[in-house]
Amino acid sequence: MIELKSAEEIDRMAVAGQFVGELLTELREVAAVGVNLMDLEHHARRRIKERGAESCYWDYTPSFGRGPFRNVLCLSVNDAVLHGLPHHYALRDGDLLSIDMAVGIDGWVADSALSVIIGTPTPDDLKLIEATEVALEAGIDAARPGNQLGDISAAIGGVARRYGYRVNGEFGGHGIGRTMHEAPHVPNDGRAGRGMKLKPGLTVAIEPWFCRSTDKIKFDDDGWTIRSADGSRTAHSEHTVAITDAGPRVLTSRPGHGTRPGNRSGQAAARS
Ligand code: MG
Ligand code: MG
Repeated sequence: MIELKSAEEIDRMAVAGQFVGELLTELREVAAVGVNLMDLEHHARRRIKERGAESCYWDYTPSFGRGPFRNVLCLSVNDAVLHGLPHHYALRDGDLLSIDMAVGIDGWVADSALSVIIGTPTPDDLKLIEATEVALEAGIDAARPGNQLGDISAAIGGVARRYGYRVNGEFGGHGIGRTMHEAPHVPNDGRAGRGMKLKPGLTVAIEPWFCRSTDKIKFDDDGWTIRSADGSRTAHSEHTVAITDAGPRVLTSRPGHGTRPGNRSGQAAARS
């Protein structure tokens, strides 16, 4: 069942979203050459506790994964793209790190992710991240009343193809609200003009992720970490978005980006 949220409920999701946006921005700044993934994880645990928020990841037990997840972040490095298990690893120059997190505050949830280069970027990695951010912007732009779910998916898939990447159909975006994963599934590719009508009050997490040279994935033995099947690098960008009469409302905007969905200005700053 799909629950449409009232304007007041969307405002409450935005409270969680603002915190997620702030914390992701902090984590992006903390992440640097030599920083251990567990330092990022502990930074996030401390901030979530201080805020009185609840991690949606802690104790999460989906059908895949080996037992409950006991971390508040997914940290995916280089060929790892989704559900990366935080572990003792010191970030190296040129690593491509994806950070994904979801928390609830007073019963309402927000979910967001970004990818960032640690230290010195390569043009290929910047292009890959940019593609996920442009796809996210295109998906968000399609999230308007009167459009259909397939319009979001087609917008994302179209950007992927324009950049020369293939889209994996196994994991995509999702409805979100009282819990992290609600109906509907929001595929990262599809046909425009198909699927359910988008109505005001629908809240979704839109999350394009691409691998540089494949659309196939493989799982680590931990049952969580998902990697590109061919070892090529990967990137992931996600925002929680409400469909409103006034158009799409990004609930997980990051400080310094206004309502801009992407973080490309952050990338540009990192390069200069
Ligand atoms: Mg997420
Ligand atoms: Mg998500």
